[in-house]
Amino acid sequence: MIKNVAVIGGGASGYFFAINLALNCSDVKITIFEKTSKILTKVKVSGGGRCNVTNAVSAPNKLAENYPRGKVFLKKLFTKFSSSDTIKWFENQGIILKTEPDNRIFPESDSSQTIIDCFTRIADKYRIELRYNAPVEFIQPTENKLKLNSSELFDYVFVGAGGNSKLEGYNWIDEMNHTIQHPLPSLFTFNIPDKALKGLEGVAVQNVRMKVEKSNLQSEGAFLVTHWGISGPAVLKLSAWGAEELAAINYTFRVFVNFVPSVNPEITRSEIASFKENNKNKLVYGHRLFDLPSRLWERLVELSEIDKTLKWCDLSKQSLNKLAENLTNFPFDTRGKTTFKEEFVTCGGVSLEEVNNETMESFKIPNVYFGGEVLNIDGITGGFNFQAAWSTSWVAAQEVAKKINAIT
Ligand SMILES: Cc1cc2nc3c(=O)[nH]c(=O)nc-3n(C[C@H](O)[C@H](O)[C@H](O)COP(=O)(O)OP(=O)(O)OC[C@H]3O[C@@H](n4cnc5c(N)ncnc54)[C@H](O)[C@@H]3O)c2cc1C
Repeated sequence: MIKNVAVIGGGASGYFFAINLALNCSDVKITIFEKTSKILTKVKVSGGGRCNVTNAVSAPNKLAENYPRGKVFLKKLFTKFSSSDTIKWFENQGIILKTEPDNRIFPESDSSQTIIDCFTRIADKYRIELRYNAPVEFIQPTENKLKLNSSELFDYVFVGAGGNSKLEGYNWIDEMNHTIQHPLPSLFTFNIPDKALKGLEGVAVQNVRMKVEKSNLQSEGAFLVTHWGISGPAVLKLSAWGAEELAAINYTFRVFVNFVPSVNPEITRSEIASFKENNKNKLVYGHRLFDLPSRLWERLVELSEIDKTLKWCDLSKQSLNKLAENLTNFPFDTRGKTTFKEEFVTCGGVSLEEVNNETMESFKIPNVYFGGEVLNIDGITGGFNFQAAWSTSWVAAQEVAKKINAIT
């Protein structure tokens, strides 16, 4: 007998669940409910229009380390469907992917439309019904079925409704007796109204180490000065790992930046001293160390109160120490945040304790499954958020297919 399956959300996770179920099971009628008039909108704009589908890191424990929320929950799922499975899955559908030097993986076409076309082609082939402007506001278990919006009955429901920045956005799931972790932004940049940064907009450093004062939060990676403050992978990583902690202090905190993370402050001091010996008659201002961008070097020299006309041989021990301190421990006072336009994700959502990470089925309502960003899962930037959507929805699809195939 044909089983009816409802998919809530026409986004990455909803589609991936629907097409994987269709690929694994024939006795099924799948209907996608999408509340807006468009599908796969985030996939379309993702990765600057190129769609960073996953990341080359594929060992389950290593991959899971990129999720500030969901790390333990996902580790198990990644043993079933990891980023290497994502690559194989797309290759089986004829999509060639390419890996960039920083491990991010994109379609070779550099176009997110390739992914959208793949999903919609499979959905059409298997006659998956798509209903636009069809918000689901209620799921109620009744007589071995699940009633949607007090009308239609389904055998299984997959919830792939994505994240929401407002708690009210989860009211309908809350009414299903599921606990919602309060949503908060993750992946944001730091606003720093400090004149130390004025005129440095666009300056980038390949690798810095950052540490938030009075906290264990720290990160490493590229650093960029923006019009409002600082950004780049080192900042975004801190924002994701510190989403809850930084919200609690209203995004007002001091962060220390080490611009030369490969050397510790002691070595920095001795390297400056030996550079001083070898460049005696050169100007400190004009002869930079550690290959830092010249604008940043000049600013750090100024902030160390070293005169522009001072030669290396005339640099006092006190100035040398001040320069070393500024290079390795520069304090920035953050006052607020700005959403990172490239990739915005929400921390918070359906509590992971109420979902079985072997199957993605709800512990509260049998035959209801969850996947994607509706869950309290979020990753750092680099393709990890889509990977969480693929892994959760793929596992849910296999489980529903198994149940249906066992009955029919
Ligand atoms: C600008 C931008 C760029 C990004 N780039 C990347 C990237 O390159 N790589 C990466 O890994 N991640 C990226 N992300 C994050 C990634 O897009 C998300 O993590 C991913 O789309 C989550 O998929 P999802 O299906 O769970 O949710 P969504 O994609 O948000 O889809 C949920 C769908 O459900 C619908 N819906 C919601 N409630 C209901 C309801 N009650 N009834 C019916 N329908 C409903 C919504 O309208 C939506 O269409 C980016 C995000 C943004 C915003």
